[in-house]
Amino acid sequence: MEPFLSYHDIKKEKITNLERMTDKQALIQTEALLRATKWFTTQNSKPETKLMKLTKFKNEPYTDWSKPANRKKQELAIAKIEKQFGKEYPNIIGGEKLTAKEKLHSLNPSNPNQVVGVFQKGTVDDALKALKVAEKKFAEWSKVPPAKRADYLFKAAKIMRKRRFESNATMIIEVGKNWMEADGDTAEAIDFLEFYGREMLRYADQKAAVQLPGEKDEVVYIPLGVGIVIPPWNFPFAILAGMTTAAVVAGNTVILKPSSDSPLTGMRFMEVMEEAGLPAGVINFVAGPGSAVGDTLIKHPKSRFIAFTGSKEVGIHINTEAAKVLPGQIWLKRVVAEMGGKDSIIVDSEANFEEAVAGVTVSAFGFQGQKCSACSRAIVDAKIYDKFVAALKKRVDAIPVGEAKDLSNYMGPVINKGAMENIMRYIEVAQKEGGKLVSGGVRASEDGYFIRPTVIANVEPKATISQEEIFGPVLAVIKAKNFDHALEIANNTEYGLTGAVYSKNKKKIERARTEFHVGNLYLNRKCTGAMVGAHPFGGFNMSGTDSKAGGRDYLLLFLQAKSIATKIK
Ligand code: NAP
Ligand code: MG
Repeated sequence: MEPFLSYHDIKKEKITNLERMTDKQALIQTEALLRATKWFTTQNSKPETKLMKLTKFKNEPYTDWSKPANRKKQELAIAKIEKQFGKEYPNIIGGEKLTAKEKLHSLNPSNPNQVVGVFQKGTVDDALKALKVAEKKFAEWSKVPPAKRADYLFKAAKIMRKRRFESNATMIIEVGKNWMEADGDTAEAIDFLEFYGREMLRYADQKAAVQLPGEKDEVVYIPLGVGIVIPPWNFPFAILAGMTTAAVVAGNTVILKPSSDSPLTGMRFMEVMEEAGLPAGVINFVAGPGSAVGDTLIKHPKSRFIAFTGSKEVGIHINTEAAKVLPGQIWLKRVVAEMGGKDSIIVDSEANFEEAVAGVTVSAFGFQGQKCSACSRAIVDAKIYDKFVAALKKRVDAIPVGEAKDLSNYMGPVINKGAMENIMRYIEVAQKEGGKLVSGGVRASEDGYFIRPTVIANVEPKATISQEEIFGPVLAVIKAKNFDHALEIANNTEYGLTGAVYSKNKKKIERARTEFHVGNLYLNRKCTGAMVGAHPFGGFNMSGTDSKAGGRDYLLLFLQAKSIATKIK
């Protein structure tokens, strides 16, 4: 079997990204941190002893699975999760552990008979209670100095490193990530905490662009208020932790409603924040159906902002509801919505052929294609089309699919029964519309929600599977007459999240830079695996509000700027 993206490939890629940060950028960052720390010491009576010593931001390295000791630790952590099957977990509001009458069961998609955890089906009353608590707590938390808030994130990052195998194991079992994907998710969560902590210090140190004579001119960034955080299940640790901690480090308090498919992973995050000593009530955890808990929170006049990542449909719904000004509401709500994708990789006739085949394969089938960044359309030049489809088939046919807890499986299950049925339906529709099934198209086993990686060739640019997000292991291969045509197809959906181009032709690459309309463009590499700091992440058009998670503009979405001009006598 040909190797897929190995740990070593990823590590190599990470190192390359790190090298991109110049010494000058590093110096500027370090100086800003020092100034912010100094600012903090002038504001507080007992500061420095509590602050952690800061180093330059670095992406978190991945676990080396070639080491038997690491494999052993991961196996033990998985066994521990399995021992806790069926355990009940509360909602947490103001530090209080609450139960509800009705329960929500989180299942193992590799084996849906296994109940990973029992959660509370939060009610409208729970949502209202959480809002009240968060509003009260905001008055206190918003006044905690930025450096102290950031310090909670740095502490939490440290705890996440210590508990790494536990969060990995939770994701392996609860959402069916393979070991590498789960470990990447934990690493990204750590990156978000380390990055946003430093970003808060940078924002705390901003200066007015101009100082007028006879005045002291300042710009200070202050929080917004109570936020609602609604993450998806597909990056159940990283995205949940990233959205929540960005909001919190900025001085807001939040109500976190985890996805009903991954509440245990959300609980792992709560455990970390509790261990880090984050005051109760800053983050309130309310599991429950999006339609009841989520809607109540979004529609409430006291919610100040909503940070959402999920599907286009829910994103539009949230945006619409949040726009309505309710009695007693004295602001326009801010909505940060990261939504779906229909991401393409263009394979040009002048591409490095082998690299393109490998890049399309990992982009399409990593975590079963359930990434918003996943390649769901390969747009291939007619000159190499047949050869490409044949090479792709060879690779895809060899992908091992099975239980996520088995390290040798590259692909695990899709998230739930509904998703599985939906994906199988799309495979049928694709063929009815003239697509040719090249690989997969069947369930891999009846025990869990397993689907073989599926490649469908001869897909028309406007066919259903070329336009709608499937969110599963289904790749459409589309034939393009030439590079112009390929670009035209690449831009023909309502989305604009990620995209990649494989070509050795510099002129074509240059055209892609300006004409390929996506928030995250990758050239001669895969279109998944955005790294915090290096690849700020977020898309155009119906892919969302282009919030650029893991980038320098992200924290601003949770802050508002106050200008203060003081006359100097
Ligand atoms: P989803 O079905 O839209 O759910 C996302 C979250 O919204 C869940 O927590 C869900 O809760 C909640 N929700 C559902 N209905 C709601 C309502 N009426 N009011 C408030 N909240 C509500 O998406 P998903 O299946 O979890 O995630 C997959 C989608 O996320 C894909 O479309 C993918 O492209 C997108 N995604 C985008 C990005 C990005 O950065 N652009 C990143 C990752 C994923 P329940 O679970 O309780 O229904
Ligand atoms: Mg599940």
